[in-house]
Amino acid sequence: MNQPLVLDGLKVADDVKAKLQVRVHNLKEKEITPCLATVLVGDDPSSATYVKMKGNACEKLGIQSKRIHLPSETTTEELIQCIQELNSDSLVDGILLQHPVPAHIDERAAFEAISIEKDVDGVTSFGYGQLAFGFGKYPCCTPAAIMAILDYYDLPMEGKHAVVVGRSPILGKPVSVMLLNRDATVTTCHSKTQNLADLVSQADIVVAAVGKPNFIQGAWIKAGAVILDAGYNPGNIGDVDYEACYTKASAITPVPGGVGPVTISMLLKHTVDSAELRAKK
Ligand code: NAP
Repeated sequence: MNQPLVLDGLKVADDVKAKLQVRVHNLKEKEITPCLATVLVGDDPSSATYVKMKGNACEKLGIQSKRIHLPSETTTEELIQCIQELNSDSLVDGILLQHPVPAHIDERAAFEAISIEKDVDGVTSFGYGQLAFGFGKYPCCTPAAIMAILDYYDLPMEGKHAVVVGRSPILGKPVSVMLLNRDATVTTCHSKTQNLADLVSQADIVVAAVGKPNFIQGAWIKAGAVILDAGYNPGNIGDVDYEACYTKASAITPVPGGVGPVTISMLLKHTVDSAELRAKK
């Protein structure tokens, strides 16, 4: 078997960002600066790092980053009020509430408070419903990244059997509906799935979204399958046993350098999409 194509997320992200740069420039000529508001609650160091990375990525591209940091003691009501103020701020194009918020906060209620027009991270149930019906504007960023990688490398989805391992609201479920909307035949697996190895071995496209290091085994992979590893576990380890799956796949994303870098570029893209809609008003 030939060596598989290694799906380079950095290359895909650079391509997305180069196109965005032109669009940001055009918006600035109309005196509009796209703006992403990030809301961080509490002092979780990983969350602080993720928010900082997203803010820095915005600024590099000329997108304004409005960073809001609320104390750990913030109540659900106070967080919702903050989100509502951002909803009403005509200069804010997108709102990202960093997950997870402290346990005493009703995170779902806070996500649902984000207006659909500014839900650039695709976290509201309204946004998910629109996505499932096939007309959502802003899908969750990691599923959008997976689709962007498939499209960049011109890997067909139509008629293919896609097996998604994981069904979380931010990853497994939305990527399943996105693949379905692109005419793949989709099997979504989860912790209660029986015969997981058998199901994965039937897949033309495997999406790993499990949160368990090296979980997807080489022996499960059909020769020539396309493998997308959304997993990101401590020590930069994906959900796919890369070495073992590499020998079977026709194309595979590495970790790091696969899905991760494209995810942030999707957030930037959705913010610019939203700013362009503001420019048309
Ligand atoms: P999650 O909310 O913990 O969901 C994990 C999913 O895997 C659940 O649906 C769970 O099933 C399923 N699962 C667990 N054990 C399983 C098993 N033995 N067999 C089959 N399915 C099993 O995780 P997530 O937020 O979706 O994240 C998944 C991975 O993606 C993590 O590694 C995370 O770090 C990574 N991630 C990466 C990015 C990125 O930008 N690259 C962004 C977000 C997340 P149940 O529903 O039955 O519990």
